[in-house]
Amino acid sequence: HATSHDYDLVVLGAGPGGYTAAFRAADLGMKVALIERWPVLGGVCLNVGCIPSKALLHAAKMIEEAREIERAGITFGKPKIDASKLRDWKNGIIARLTGGLAGLAKQRKVQVIRGSGRFVSAHEIEVAEDHLPTGATPPQEARSADGVCRVSFGQCIIAAGSEPIRLPGLPDDPRIIDSSGALELDLPKRLLVVGGGIIGLEMATVYEALGVNVSVVELTDGLIPGCDRDLVRPLQKRLEKRYERILLKTKLAKIEALKRGLRVTFAGESAPQPEIYDKVLIAVGRSPNGRNIGAEVAGVHVDERGYIPVDLQMRTNVPHIFAIGDIVGPPMLAHKASHEAKIAAEVAHGEKRAFDARVIPSVAYTDPEIAWVGLTETDARAKGVPYEKASFPWAASGRSLSLGREEGSTKLLFDPVTRRVIGGGIVGPHAGDLISEVALAIEMGSDAHDLGLTIHPHPTLSETIMFAAEAFEGVLTDLY
Ligand code: FAD
Repeated sequence: HATSHDYDLVVLGAGPGGYTAAFRAADLGMKVALIERWPVLGGVCLNVGCIPSKALLHAAKMIEEAREIERAGITFGKPKIDASKLRDWKNGIIARLTGGLAGLAKQRKVQVIRGSGRFVSAHEIEVAEDHLPTGATPPQEARSADGVCRVSFGQCIIAAGSEPIRLPGLPDDPRIIDSSGALELDLPKRLLVVGGGIIGLEMATVYEALGVNVSVVELTDGLIPGCDRDLVRPLQKRLEKRYERILLKTKLAKIEALKRGLRVTFAGESAPQPEIYDKVLIAVGRSPNGRNIGAEVAGVHVDERGYIPVDLQMRTNVPHIFAIGDIVGPPMLAHKASHEAKIAAEVAHGEKRAFDARVIPSVAYTDPEIAWVGLTETDARAKGVPYEKASFPWAASGRSLSLGREEGSTKLLFDPVTRRVIGGGIVGPHAGDLISEVALAIEMGSDAHDLGLTIHPHPTLSETIMFAAEAFEGVLTDLY
């Protein structure tokens, strides 16, 4: 259908939400532009999130496994760490992926426009190159002398993501870093991680393995708030042995920037005396970018926290403007963003689609990993949802013992009436890879028999899901 706009669809932000939406819309035949302020595509996930953190966690895992295999009579000695080579290796992985995305955009004729975008009307975004970080490529669009161009659209998908929360009142000091700074791997002797959530603990895991003396301070009474305590316990036990200190129910009160380090004052019932750290990583969550894009000018409602509310078709209150990913609300996860992206792009193209996924899995890529999906016991108790539970301890899994690990466990939650799987949680190595089976079981409406009667390969960690289901059905499980 002919329009007077430059593009059928403009996507603002090229993270996993934005590039997925742009690619899907282009595949469906729409004329698409993708606006991105960073010099490369991929957003937080590829550049300063999921991918670099997992690359570094792999390196950490190698070091840890080399340490642990000593018990089996194999000694490697102390690792020699060349942080700059490790950084280059990580950056090489990112470059390969972001380069791949640039190729995919080109192949699909998605016009990439570099620069910071702001709505100037309900059908136009102004893109300014002045906000670009150094080294950014010049935009392909024609621009005025001040480096600004206007792009008009029939429909728009907002995918501008989120940023690390900055705590107020902290000194402006390069030794206070966020997750992006932590991924740069300028290794201190002593690091304090503020925030015991997934991002904080993943970075703590990396730094500890690289020989840094790590402490963690967490405001609530446990690590990874929101996750069931029985799943967190094996992780916490392991970390207690490795970290200098894990301070729970404790608040960061103050940081003073001294020459010899950062002097940190804590608050809370069991707060220790002030301590000096070489670096402090602030990992207390992320806030959405809803307030930074001029959404109001287009009439798009942004809530007081900066999120953009959407309906099940990912439409904002302005019907031709959609929003997806971190900017629409938690959970802030790449796989949620890309799933929403396909829905928004298809709806924009005129398909009848809506967000109807039952569950979104969560994974902490710590060691051990923790993964959960669907109903949690914490939620069930809080909301009074009835459930029955079965679990299988990995101490009885031959495969787990062969990996030299025995602290894992797999649990499944069932609807007491239908006996269908409604939730699951796994702690142990590779939990993140294993949880998809439970997610599929929930999406398919599987019951305990479906999982228990599916032949799983032996010896694998995936068997623990079958064993938990069998345990629920009262079938005796032998020890393997
Ligand atoms: P983003 O990835 O934030 O992308 C938004 C893009 O929009 C950015 O490129 C930004 O530059 C651009 N942008 C913003 N405003 C403008 C503007 N005005 N003009 C032009 N461009 C703009 N999730 C997982 O699922 N698994 C993980 O293992 C995982 N690990 C993580 C580790 C870390 C350290 C961090 C920080 C996050 C991690 N996440 C992980 C979360 C994941 O990165 C996000 O959920 C995901 O990137 C959100 O995608 P998005 O498309 O909504 O936004």
